[in-house]
Amino acid sequence: MERKSSLRERLITELAGLRTVDCHSHTRLRRTYDEAGGFDLFTLTSYFERDLAATAGGAPYGDAKTDEERWQRLKPLLAKARNVSYWRHNLVVYRKLFGLKDDELDDRNWRQVNDAIRERSRDPGWYNHVTRDVCNLETQVRNIPWFEDWEPEYFTAVLRMESALQLHDKATRQNLERHLNLSIANLADAKAALARLTDQYVAKGAIGIKLAHAYGRTLHSLPVPDAVAAAVFARALTGAALTPAEVKDLQDHVIFFLAELCRTKKLIFQIHTGVQGNWGNVPDSDPLLLIPLLKTFPDVRFDLFHAGYPYSRMLGMLGKHYPNVWLNMAWMYVISIAASRQVLAEWLDLVPGYRILGFGSDVNFPEMIYGHLEMARACVADVLAEKVRLDFLSEEEAFCLARKMFRDNGVEFYGIGR
Ligand SMILES: [Zn+2]
Repeated sequence: MERKSSLRERLITELAGLRTVDCHSHTRLRRTYDEAGGFDLFTLTSYFERDLAATAGGAPYGDAKTDEERWQRLKPLLAKARNVSYWRHNLVVYRKLFGLKDDELDDRNWRQVNDAIRERSRDPGWYNHVTRDVCNLETQVRNIPWFEDWEPEYFTAVLRMESALQLHDKATRQNLERHLNLSIANLADAKAALARLTDQYVAKGAIGIKLAHAYGRTLHSLPVPDAVAAAVFARALTGAALTPAEVKDLQDHVIFFLAELCRTKKLIFQIHTGVQGNWGNVPDSDPLLLIPLLKTFPDVRFDLFHAGYPYSRMLGMLGKHYPNVWLNMAWMYVISIAASRQVLAEWLDLVPGYRILGFGSDVNFPEMIYGHLEMARACVADVLAEKVRLDFLSEEEAFCLARKMFRDNGVEFYGIGR
């Protein structure tokens, strides 16, 4: 007699069968992956690097010259830190793609995993195989830094805009002037240049802009009158050093200008919220600080990242009260699967399902996308199955949400294939 598979298993099967839209990506271009000529256990890495650096108190491999020496440095660090999700992400990748059979990486198996990574990552068809066949991705919505290009066969572009907040810096300004072949003599010129740059990227297919300013300053911004910002910018042009308050005024003005660009050009405004790097000033990243911006631009669609973690419950309420806010799980499953489960379980009670973007890889390597995707599918299947069991969610809606979160919402929101 055939054993009826559990709801969780059926949900995982459903998710694995979808061509997922990766709602936030930094993946290396295929060109630069192939040019590198292969990676190994110590270079094909992801966020665990940060815990390694924090645990080692600096560069983990220092002056190690051989892989054996690198392994001997990694081993005691793993003994201290291998519990974190960032490491488990690596283990999933080693198991699923590079033949690891044991529960942990250790003296018995590290060479085999290292060799497998070297061999496969050198294969010229590997990048495409992992991206297309293994991950089964529709596209990756990828951050494109100023003046850089992308590969449309793998990526959908979003123009990264932190540089727009540094136009008081001479070098940043000159780079923009050179690229557009124009000169910036005042704030109006600067804003016109930003609009031109955006137009160039939109003409090539970009669907939005992104700001990750929460790494370096508060997300809080207020509308600053044109005259005030123009006077600050004029002072910067004379070479005068701006005060922190002046810089914030100028940046706030530009942030509101960027939102206005999104409104007129019908672009998505992606904003990093929550989780930063080592030594980050955590309270700067609270998504509630965005309220003045969200209220000023009800017609702009804001795509708020990383579940706002640890402010995920706050982000849930923004999703509840602000119909211009989409909630993006990018990066989240490798930050904490337990937190991801809690966050989604609450959001699915609060926020209309069409505004929850269930997966964003946020890694550098296609292999790491796959590990993240496997963790995401397992987590979402757990959450949905539990909500059917405990929270009065219908099985029909559970499957519907699975499709929305991993594919349909991304296709619709980013206009994929349009
Ligand atoms: Zn990112």
